Amino acid sequence: MNHQLLDPPIRNKESFLGDSLRIEGIPVQGYEQVLRVTDKKSGLKAIVAIHNTSLGPALGGVRIQPYTSFEAALEDALRLAKGMTYKSAVASVGFGGGKSVIIADPKVQKTPELLSAFGRGVEQLGGNYICAEDSGCTMEDVRVIRRATKYVVGLPNAKSSGDPGPFTAWGTFRGMQATIKRLFGTDSIEGKVVAVQGLGNVGSHLIEYLFWAGAELIVADLDPVKTAEAAHKYGAKVVPVDQILGVPCDILAPCAFGGIINDDTIPSFRCRGIAGSANNQLLRDFHADKLSARGILYAPDFVINAGGLLNVSAELEEAGYQVALPRYKVHHIYDTLLAIYEIAEKNRESTHASSLALADYRIRYGIGKRTVLPVFHHTAT
Ligand code: NAD
Repeated sequence: MNHQLLDPPIRNKESFLGDSLRIEGIPVQGYEQVLRVTDKKSGLKAIVAIHNTSLGPALGGVRIQPYTSFEAALEDALRLAKGMTYKSAVASVGFGGGKSVIIADPKVQKTPELLSAFGRGVEQLGGNYICAEDSGCTMEDVRVIRRATKYVVGLPNAKSSGDPGPFTAWGTFRGMQATIKRLFGTDSIEGKVVAVQGLGNVGSHLIEYLFWAGAELIVADLDPVKTAEAAHKYGAKVVPVDQILGVPCDILAPCAFGGIINDDTIPSFRCRGIAGSANNQLLRDFHADKLSARGILYAPDFVINAGGLLNVSAELEEAGYQVALPRYKVHHIYDTLLAIYEIAEKNRESTHASSLALADYRIRYGIGKRTVLPVFHHTAT
């Protein structure tokens, strides 16, 4: 059965939904559906971007951030949604790419009413977009959204897959091992200097795995409590946030936010490889070539950070969530990356270009396309 048999979604047109929720389409070239979702009562201002559903319904997190403008929010949603298409295609999960952003300060503007209005908007899409946690949106927030729609994953309950962070971190760790193998001929992390930017949901787990594998850690985070803990528990050297990208190290692991590989930062990198979890690390595609020219090996973000996606998508299997399956798949991010490194060398192109080509090929020929509908086992409690 094809995912398109789900309830027909709202196509790019205005829609008034009885209550104060309003959904209107924004035509964007190259995207299947981009929707502005607003609700006067709760103050919701959100964008849902569905990039491509050739391989299955769009799946992607909800980012809650106080964007400076609607345009900035839209740009972020579009970039993130496209990245999810590539991530899903390479990870072969039978999903497409989508993402949503809510324009709000998660510390003060995130109310149950706002999340519930967002959930009602997602429900209107009839399963064409499935949401999960992301920056500014916690598992508890997803639980609130779940009261308004079943089209969510990553809930803190027994029928769901829970926090994707540790899985993303393990995939990043395995991808880092592949990067080290390619650079040094051994995948041992013992004694390697790893600089980690951002000790959040992913970075905090990553440094734990790295510590036990024998890495020497250098870390930075805006939150001094997190860096103090890293220094105490794992002997990490703490550096100011404006210095982490330029510290001498074997591997730089960006785990905070996107766009950190750009014209300004590339000349200052003093690492052999970049392998981190952040989405959209390259400001523009051509920055991958600039990295290659500097001899820095780059683990494409949408390949190395697929661990969380592999975990949340496992809960939609007909048999329900069984943790051994995503563990197996996340472990093999190592092999996928080694293969990409080989292809890139053979084709004399950047690792980013090889990964994009792999994703495009899979999408074009329907490789890994979903053949059964996702099953939502979780309940609203
Ligand atoms: P998070 O919000 O939990 O953590 C981000 C951390 O970065 C925070 O501790 C924050 O204080 C820190 N930070 C912010 N600005 C910083 C700066 N200038 N310098 C240093 N640190 C800074 O996010 P997360 O869930 O850990 O995700 C990290 C990155 O990985 C994000 O780009 C996210 O999109 C991506 N990602 C996460 C997952 C997941 O499973 N959580 C999956 C795929 C990709």
